[in-house]
Amino acid sequence: MTSVLLRLVALSLLLAAAGPLRAEPVMKVTLLGTATPTPRPERFGMSTLVEAGDQKLMFDAGRGATIRLWQLKVPLGRVDALFITHYHSDHVSGIPDLWLTGWLAPPFGRRTKPFHVIGPTGAKDLMANLQKAFALDIKIRLEDEKLPPDGVAVLAEDFDHDGVVYEKNGVRVIAFTVDHGDAIKPAVGYRVEYQGHSVVLSGDTRYNENVIKYGTGADVLIHEVGSARPELLENAFAQRIMAHHTSPKDAGRVFAQAKPKVAVYAHISLLSNERIPEPTLADVTAETRQTYDGPLQIGEDLMSFEIGDTVSVHPFGR
Ligand SMILES: [Zn+2]
Ligand SMILES: [Zn+2]
Repeated sequence: MTSVLLRLVALSLLLAAAGPLRAEPVMKVTLLGTATPTPRPERFGMSTLVEAGDQKLMFDAGRGATIRLWQLKVPLGRVDALFITHYHSDHVSGIPDLWLTGWLAPPFGRRTKPFHVIGPTGAKDLMANLQKAFALDIKIRLEDEKLPPDGVAVLAEDFDHDGVVYEKNGVRVIAFTVDHGDAIKPAVGYRVEYQGHSVVLSGDTRYNENVIKYGTGADVLIHEVGSARPELLENAFAQRIMAHHTSPKDAGRVFAQAKPKVAVYAHISLLSNERIPEPTLADVTAETRQTYDGPLQIGEDLMSFEIGDTVSVHPFGR
């Protein structure tokens, strides 16, 4: 009895020394990559991890997504499903790495069930072609390393209209069409719901009412943004790119109407050329503030958001 009491005292002292406990979040979002195709070392390709209950869901797998999962100590094979927003290479180029490295032996692999990929029309073709491209690697490792065949199998699902595309253990994912330009179809965003909370990802889009519709009241609304200095916008190349993306002022209009608990920028596109430098992140914030005065975070790789009664923001390691 005395020893139990002593242990309890020791435990409470330890807890007191550790400071106030962080409540276990209902949902957690981690930005794995926040960039555009530009191969920046500090911002990897677009990818987002959403954790809810026992589910770990990934949205897009751009360059380096596996490295970010490794930094989080999440085994690659532990991802339950990967959702694709659209087929621009910067959103899918990390898929073969996630799929095949995730099949390898622990500690980083461990997948023993099929790799589950869900996307608008095109996901099945993409995965079937990757299976062809990597057929020899798969054959070699099955024979040589005796890896489980189920772990490299693919379960790919296409959808062609808005609505629920995934439902498991109380987690629901809804896909909605966005507007990434006339030639870039299909393009979707996603809303993830769990226990009365929600996370919404715009995908790549210009200003779009559907993001407001599905993003309204979200705990976290992650939106893409593109920005260029006014001098650069006279250039046809910059105009074409900006016609596919959302300016800070327009993203602010989306946030002002959807009123998320926290608005977050990811897929941060800062245009420049040899003469005209890229705008700064402070410029992006200032322009957003012309139309939106609520909570706003410029996303960084590995920044996370813990969702409960409130939403807390954590730069990596804090
Ligand atoms: Zn993109
Ligand atoms: Zn795109």
